[in-house]
Amino acid sequence: MSQWLSFATPIYDHGRSLMNNSVDLVIPPICNLCRCDLTDESRWLGLCDKCCSLVIESSDDCCSRCGNQSEIYRQEAATKSSAFCPKCKQTHFMFSRVFTLGSYQKYLRHAVLQTKHPHGYPLAVALGRLLAHVRKKEIDLFQPDLIIATPMHWLRRLTRGVNGPDAVANSVAKYLELPKSNRAIIRFRYTAQQVNLSQTQRLKNIASAFRLRGKNIAGKRILLIDDVMTTGATCNEVAKVLRFHGASDVAVGVVARQGLSVHRKAS
Ligand SMILES: [Zn+2]
Ligand SMILES: [Zn+2]
Repeated sequence: MSQWLSFATPIYDHGRSLMNNSVDLVIPPICNLCRCDLTDESRWLGLCDKCCSLVIESSDDCCSRCGNQSEIYRQEAATKSSAFCPKCKQTHFMFSRVFTLGSYQKYLRHAVLQTKHPHGYPLAVALGRLLAHVRKKEIDLFQPDLIIATPMHWLRRLTRGVNGPDAVANSVAKYLELPKSNRAIIRFRYTAQQVNLSQTQRLKNIASAFRLRGKNIAGKRILLIDDVMTTGATCNEVAKVLRFHGASDVAVGVVARQGLSVHRKAS
């Protein structure tokens, strides 16, 4: 039975994503995380109110540049002695802002990990929509011209069966009505997964892994989208390439950010 369920769920999810509103009358839409039936108000989002409240955190105490949150930064920010967190003082980030739903832990971590499964596409789309909706004001202030997803190597795309960052980016672009450039930048070198590496190994692993493919990005303000950000090494490397080729500014939008330590709901 469980084997049938694991086989049937991806087909069911893909089928559901293709359905239109008239079909929703027959099969009520469900939350892409907890699978409960959605109300009329939350069906556009694809996530129920309870799941949203569990994954959204306030960005008030986060460093506006790298999205990091630490006790030292909060103390410095409270006294206005520093514009950036300690991590920003040590690292020269090539992006200027980070927008995120919250910390990569608990329920949001569970949600991001679900998007990495072959049936995770509809959830990645829903999380992208939520990210754009919740952080719209801040993103609008950045005034992005173009959306680009952090590229995944074709081999990983093939083995994983779903490209989470690209699904999130599609959704953010659609919600914000902004153009998205597909494959403007590619990951031409296959790299080990960053998650098991130290900070130094991560920097070495990801160095020179990306290449721009002819698209003119000179003078553009780019919103780079990824599903999760840990040390920022990958986003920084992509931002470096974009800035080298003339992008006037790069901000990063991620569903979850590792390094945030306090779980608080948005007020
Ligand atoms: Zn739910
Ligand atoms: Zn910072």
